Amino acid sequence: MISFNKPYYTGKEIEYIEDTLKRNKICGDGYYTKKVSEFMEKTFNTKKALMTTSCSMALDMSCILADIKEGDEVILPSYTFVSTANSIVLRGGKCIFADIDPNTLVIDLEDVEKKITERTKAIIVVHYAGVSCDMDKLMEIANKNNILVIEDAAQAVNAKYKGKYLGTIGHMGCYSFHETKNYVAGEGGALLINIDDKTLIESAEIVREKGTNRSNFYRGQVDKYTWVKMGSSYLPSEMISAFLMAQFEELDTINNLRKEVFNKYYDGTRELEEMGKVRRPIIPDYNDINYHMFYLILNSEKERNNLLEYFKQNDIIGTFHYLPLHTSPMGLEMGYKEGDLPITESISSRLIRLPMYAGLTNEEVDKVLFHLKEFFKK
Ligand SMILES: *Cc1c(COP(=O)(O)O)cnc(C)c1O
Repeated sequence: MISFNKPYYTGKEIEYIEDTLKRNKICGDGYYTKKVSEFMEKTFNTKKALMTTSCSMALDMSCILADIKEGDEVILPSYTFVSTANSIVLRGGKCIFADIDPNTLVIDLEDVEKKITERTKAIIVVHYAGVSCDMDKLMEIANKNNILVIEDAAQAVNAKYKGKYLGTIGHMGCYSFHETKNYVAGEGGALLINIDDKTLIESAEIVREKGTNRSNFYRGQVDKYTWVKMGSSYLPSEMISAFLMAQFEELDTINNLRKEVFNKYYDGTRELEEMGKVRRPIIPDYNDINYHMFYLILNSEKERNNLLEYFKQNDIIGTFHYLPLHTSPMGLEMGYKEGDLPITESISSRLIRLPMYAGLTNEEVDKVLFHLKEFFKK
């Protein structure tokens, strides 16, 4: 059986977790939390990286920090994971769903511009499969209209736009270290603050520490800590950061392993694309991707579903996603309906993801490609 995903272990994870026990500090913000945060700040180049328990929690924090309130509008793609939208709804904000670009599958900036109103407070972009929209253009639109940009970079850790790391370009960025992502810690995430704004960075530390100024207290800046803002508990234990440190040390190894699989799939499906059976991912010149996933777009929903079934019969697990948020029960309740975002609906019904992880063998990739070609022969 070829599974869809398998977390990759570097071999150092247990050693580092054991080390947290020896250090006698296993709650958050100890030795390893500091180490992974500094790693992210240096390697990816951001002002402040704060570990969180998930990307969902980093997104929730970003919407608290953006001060999203009842009646505020936030533009986001409908083609995304639910957490992007929940972070807005939890603050009482209004989700304004935009369509995606049919080539890159990320938010369509022309549609974004059409949807900006007086009440638009933020735009959350999603770097699907490590691909981004034209970030320079997005930042120009956002700055002109005084709108905050939050990057949902859950899938884009170690991917770049014009040489800059995704997640570090907007005002805030959110990473995921869930076991289905490139660099894993079981569950985990990070919030990146990318602007040189001491007040925002301090607020982020407070929101993450149950609304208290405990971080200031630890640094000796205040002599007792107390409740100063709305917040919750978003920081993960030391064991999570210890695990993640072992992964970050192999940043390039993991990326190269994924790259091999991606390229083998990419080359192996060229012929099917030329025959008009599938469309392969289109990577804009401005992106260096992180090989997060390999998807294909088929010609119809029926064919996509048949292929998933055919794979299953041959012990290969493929998947599809996302059911568009605007046509979900929540989306319909908000007043959206089928037909509102035609490209999102069309892509979502025809996309298939092939098994993809660091360590998938050449033989396994060959087997997937063999059955893929067999399917289209019929
Ligand atoms: C995985 C994912 C998330 C959620 O990440 P968690 O760390 O599991 O909370 C959010 N957005 C996108 C686009 C994702 O792919």
